[in-house]
Amino acid sequence: MTQQLKKLEEKLANLEKGNAEKARKIKEQIKKIKEYNKEYNKKYYREKRKAQIQAKAKAKKESKQATAACVVCGKSFIPHNSLSKCCSDECREIYKRKYQKEYAKTEAGKAYRKRYRQTETYKEVRKRYAQSEKGKLSLKKYAQSEKGKAALKRYFEKRKENGYKSLKETEREQLPETN
Ligand SMILES: [Zn+2]
Repeated sequence: MTQQLKKLEEKLANLEKGNAEKARKIKEQIKKIKEYNKEYNKKYYREKRKAQIQAKAKAKKESKQATAACVVCGKSFIPHNSLSKCCSDECREIYKRKYQKEYAKTEAGKAYRKRYRQTETYKEVRKRYAQSEKGKLSLKKYAQSEKGKAALKRYFEKRKENGYKSLKETEREQLPETN
């Protein structure tokens, strides 16, 4: 547009005197272009200003938002809600695992495990695991370990306390009586 304006102004300056009609037309065109430019600039600056204001407001809002330190890596982050403790999915995964371990150590965690071990679901899972190749290997390893040996010892001591009942006897006791 600016180039067009320049050309028109040059044309106007080079016009011979007396060519009034042509000069008027050129002046009209110049006026239109100048008005267009003015409007364009106004709009351009309005939009630019609007974007600046928006950017400033956004920065202010973000700086106002309370940041929290990630409980896993310590990096500060903007929490999604009051329960957010971690900055990322990776940290959340680590935290979850750590929390589960710590929960398992508490009385509530122990009670939960005890209840779970009495469920049919758990018995079924154990049974299936004991029958699997992985389970068999693991049980064999456990029986040979110090921990496993100690558990076996405790088991036999308990049987001794119960008066050396054979396993079959114990099982028979648990069966309902039949005539
Ligand atoms: Zn983190």
